[in-house]
Amino acid sequence: MADKDCIFCKIVEGKIPSEKVYEDDKFLAFLDIMPANKGHTLIIPKEHYMVFEDMPKELLKEYSLLLQKISKVVFETLKADGYNIQQNNYPAGGQVVPHVHFHIIPRFSDDGFTFDWEKKKYEDEEMQEYAEKIKKGF
Ligand code: 5GP
Ligand code: ZN
Repeated sequence: MADKDCIFCKIVEGKIPSEKVYEDDKFLAFLDIMPANKGHTLIIPKEHYMVFEDMPKELLKEYSLLLQKISKVVFETLKADGYNIQQNNYPAGGQVVPHVHFHIIPRFSDDGFTFDWEKKKYEDEEMQEYAEKIKKGF
């Protein structure tokens, strides 16, 4: 079901124009309007799911295969030196458009672009405690 307020649902429905690079019955890939590098591509499911964990398992295999395919095509056709795959969830995770999407960002040796975060440290037993917390969630 489309969300009437969602920009990406509007792109799927053709109500907002987009520069499409791939489309099938379940997925759409188009260029990001504010690219980190030219050729920055977004891949979305046509159905509206807000965050990654909302996606039905049946779609995930196809989604990941398509992500691999489009990454390779972007990398090769743009003669990039590398690429990043990024996927943001929730506002705290940097998600601005609440419709699941993967970013494929072609990278060039001289693009001057960095993913620089402050490298934090665990104290004493903290690392083990974090691992224990996460393991309990399975
Ligand atoms: P997020 O921060 O949610 O992971 O990324 C959303 C991305 O969507 C941003 O990189 C932004 O430039 C892109 N975007 C937002 N609105 C539009 C639009 O109307 N058309 C296109 N092609 N990209 C958009
Ligand atoms: Zn949507």
